[in-house]
Amino acid sequence: MNLVLLGPPGAGKGTQAALLSQRLGIPHVASGDLFREAMKKGTGWGKEAQSYIDLGVLVPDEVTNAMIEERLKEPDCAKGVILDGFPRTIEQARALEGILAERGEKIDRVLVIQVSEDTLIERLSGRRTCRRCQANYHLLFNPPQKEGVCDRCGGDLYQRSDDKEETVRRRFRVYTEETAPLIDYYRRQGLLTEIDGERGIEGVQGKILSALSLSP
Ligand code: ADP
Ligand code: AMP
Repeated sequence: MNLVLLGPPGAGKGTQAALLSQRLGIPHVASGDLFREAMKKGTGWGKEAQSYIDLGVLVPDEVTNAMIEERLKEPDCAKGVILDGFPRTIEQARALEGILAERGEKIDRVLVIQVSEDTLIERLSGRRTCRRCQANYHLLFNPPQKEGVCDRCGGDLYQRSDDKEETVRRRFRVYTEETAPLIDYYRRQGLLTEIDGERGIEGVQGKILSALSLSP
């Protein structure tokens, strides 16, 4: 099964994708996580992406598409994938269709998580991310067992620099202008399901499972 999670920054895509990945046994592929890994390792893609990410704008499509294409070729993606943060432009959506078509596959469903701007700001300001494995926490809504330490791998938690208020505002604008048109694009293809993201993490997961006809 190939799923796409759409939604503005802070909507809960990464949180829900991680839960779905455990449930379905298919990998969670997040373009933002791949870029952050590449920046940490100082690879070519990391160097190309850094200045765009710092500003809160999109990394050019050619770079992003090439990175995703390479990731989707890895053997763990053979049974399907949960994409989070990709595609973010119509051109990326077309590239994804091409990559999947080459192996006789397609997107099975696109879930768009809808949340008000006030909620997004509340979620992003409290988000903490593991430096080592990129797991996400929230100071109030999903705190780690031990302050500042990742439950999953013991890595230290930090606040992403692009979660600062000024950059967050630019990321929202970029979402509205460049990514939101994908909602209609996928609706026209009959692939879109809207998910009300204004509830707790488990409540949203329940809505997603029922949209996919999976038991809770
Ligand atoms: P995205 O991947 O869409 O940018 P995340 O999954 O990282 O968003 O979630 C943003 C922040 O909000 C994180 O700190 C996460 O723990 C928290 N969060 C996610 N879903 C919910 C929810 N349904 N209720 C409250 N907090 C949430
Ligand atoms: P995210 O972790 O999804 O919030 O992404 C963090 C940043 O990485 C974004 O603000 C962009 O600069 C960049 N990025 C992530 N995914 C993409 C994508 N599909 N296309 C272009 N840029 C991306």
